[in-house]
Amino acid sequence: MLTVENIEKMYEGKPLLRGISFELKQGETICLLGRSGSGKSTLLRIIVGIELPDSGRILWAGKDMANVPIHERNFGLMFQDYALFPHKNVFNNVAFGLRMIGVPADQVKKRVEIELDKVGMLNFSRRRVTELSGGEQQRVALARALVPKPRLLLLDEPLGALDKTLRGQLLQDIHTLLLETGIPAIYVTHDQEEAFRIADRLLILRDGEIVQSGAPQSIYRDPKDTWVAKFLGLNNILPARIVRFNPLTVETDIGELEIEPFREIQYKIGQEVDLLIRPDALIINQAGNNQISGKVKDVFFLGEGYHVIVKLNSTTLEFDLAQELKIGDAIQGSLDANSVSIL
Ligand code: ATP
Ligand code: MG
Repeated sequence: MLTVENIEKMYEGKPLLRGISFELKQGETICLLGRSGSGKSTLLRIIVGIELPDSGRILWAGKDMANVPIHERNFGLMFQDYALFPHKNVFNNVAFGLRMIGVPADQVKKRVEIELDKVGMLNFSRRRVTELSGGEQQRVALARALVPKPRLLLLDEPLGALDKTLRGQLLQDIHTLLLETGIPAIYVTHDQEEAFRIADRLLILRDGEIVQSGAPQSIYRDPKDTWVAKFLGLNNILPARIVRFNPLTVETDIGELEIEPFREIQYKIGQEVDLLIRPDALIINQAGNNQISGKVKDVFFLGEGYHVIVKLNSTTLEFDLAQELKIGDAIQGSLDANSVSIL
């Protein structure tokens, strides 16, 4: 439905967006993931039409949106800071956009109440928005973005300032809403966990370009380079050298390791590569290939398990484990070849 074609944008002589292109299908949720200042909000503003690109096009169902005014595009944007009107109550905040386009009062009432009900805020209709918590304001902002029945929803870090429990709940609510309404959405965040949970597809933005796109599972399994891996919180990256084929074997500081070749790439014997060891790779006390031994340097309790920092030779790696270990414990185990790959 939406086609973003080769969008370029400069600010103060510096390129911010450099040739951004992607498509969004009906019912699909794309997550745009990038560091602070990477141009995520700017891209949403360009799509919505409140900002112009230097070059490139935004198309909807094949039609160029360049000369289509904002309200006729009918793309809903939920701003990063909610941008509610502080002097208006909840009802009037949500009603504002409908009144602006001349929707009759009885219909405004009906439609606003439906949206407020969807986000669980109907009982707050008469409350001033300044007397709401962050999470409640977020729900009102969501209702306001939904009430014009947008054909595309753009959500700019909608859970920005909320605590973790609330984020989880609201994320689920937004997911349900998107599934029920079938509205395609672009969801901007810099939180990988949030992106993994809600996205059908991820776009990873770096230095103004989309450096990797794909299903969350495939990007997590096979990040294209060290930067993407680290950005996704995968910190176990180890220099290695190819020593054998069949099975593919590399030499590292922690010993020789057999790995699964995820990609159809021809390696050479002796080639230097970066190895990614995912945090689920370590199986404690298991005999087999890829034996390693080390010492526990630090342990973090995660609720459902433990995040353990292990020192092996001169290398420090992080693993998620079910069993409780203590600082100083010696550990023996093997690394699952399926959780080790070449970047
Ligand atoms: P965050 O995650 O912090 O919200 P972002 O990815 O949304 O960041 P943008 O708000 O798009 O980033 O801004 C990208 C860069 O462009 C920033 O360095 C910002 O200072 C700059 N910028 C944004 N708007 C303007 C403007 N109107 N004029 C000049 N520079 C701008
Ligand atoms: Mg932003």
